Amino acid sequence: MMRGLFFLSLLLAVLGWASPDWLRWGAHPDEGFTRFVFELPLGTSYDTKVGGAVVRVSLGLETSEPATLRPGDAAVERVELTPAPEGTLVRFYLQPGASAKKPFVLEGPEGRFRLVIDVLHPEGGKAAAAPPPKSKPKAPVVVVDPGHGGPDPGAVGYVKEKAITLDIALRVKKILESKGIEVVLTRDGDYDLAPSYVKDFDERKRIDLDKRAKMTNGDRNLFVSVHVNSAERPARGIEVYYLGKTLDPRTLALAVAENGGGELGQRLTQKAESTAEAALADLIAQGNLQFSARLANEILEQLIARTGTINRGVHSAPFYVLRYARIPAVLVEVGFANHPTEGRLLARPDYRQRLAEGIAAGILKILGNGSYAASQR
Ligand SMILES: [Zn+2]
Repeated sequence: MMRGLFFLSLLLAVLGWASPDWLRWGAHPDEGFTRFVFELPLGTSYDTKVGGAVVRVSLGLETSEPATLRPGDAAVERVELTPAPEGTLVRFYLQPGASAKKPFVLEGPEGRFRLVIDVLHPEGGKAAAAPPPKSKPKAPVVVVDPGHGGPDPGAVGYVKEKAITLDIALRVKKILESKGIEVVLTRDGDYDLAPSYVKDFDERKRIDLDKRAKMTNGDRNLFVSVHVNSAERPARGIEVYYLGKTLDPRTLALAVAENGGGELGQRLTQKAESTAEAALADLIAQGNLQFSARLANEILEQLIARTGTINRGVHSAPFYVLRYARIPAVLVEVGFANHPTEGRLLARPDYRQRLAEGIAAGILKILGNGSYAASQR
């Protein structure tokens, strides 16, 4: 037991692992298994599904943001936490040859119960444990934010914005992962990030945007929010934004719309404006905004090269989702949902693939650029 605890704390120290306080685990190499324990408040709903190399556990429990945990364990390669409509989805991805036993429940301390999942190591624990994570250089982590979702469809025209942004984000993830880059999505399905008990649309939107904006912090290197534009008078083309103020009424109207629209949009736009204003007096924030502008230019250039559409330029605007970023962060408007030609193009998978390739290429250019490393604090 002592040995197990020592092993676990060593791993935690190496990984700087931050798991939620309701999930713990311990490896038992001699007995050939690792035990994962959810300690949950009584009455928390749960559902488990063991299917081949993945164990899915859905919990009626709010988690603040998606996370990937790498326990460096012989049984489990990684654990992914994702917000889901019912609360939280936890997925265990098993190591090759490992197998999960049927989950069971134990009594817990006062007011809690324990949901236990034992995962057998490959070949009863005789196989070598996973290589120590320290030996691997850390891959850059890119956050991709598919705008809107759930009750908020975003712009609606020939396409629905929330579906287009998700599809493009998933494509960007696939491309970047093939290049060895880790990608965190703010959502990977049709939902928003507000807790299910919040019913008011504006309040949901506010919480949702705030959570996305806060996902720019931690161990991440770049943030890209993907959106679809809309205009009263027919317009087409691509524009990319970084955080700042604007004097252009159309840009301001766009920021208000993307910040939730109406009174909420006005309020969140003002908050983002004051952040942008404070950045003017802060050298580090200024440096980061300059980097964001470069990321915006790279992405725009790559997008125009792949689509041949109208280049509407790089601009700064008070988008709330960019507000907390201390890493290069941009918002891409990939086209207009209500333009008769562009709206129909956005409906085509091959066009969305080109957009995803353009966004990924811009990100790769910045990540591959030596000056990127120099900008890191
Ligand atoms: Zn949008």
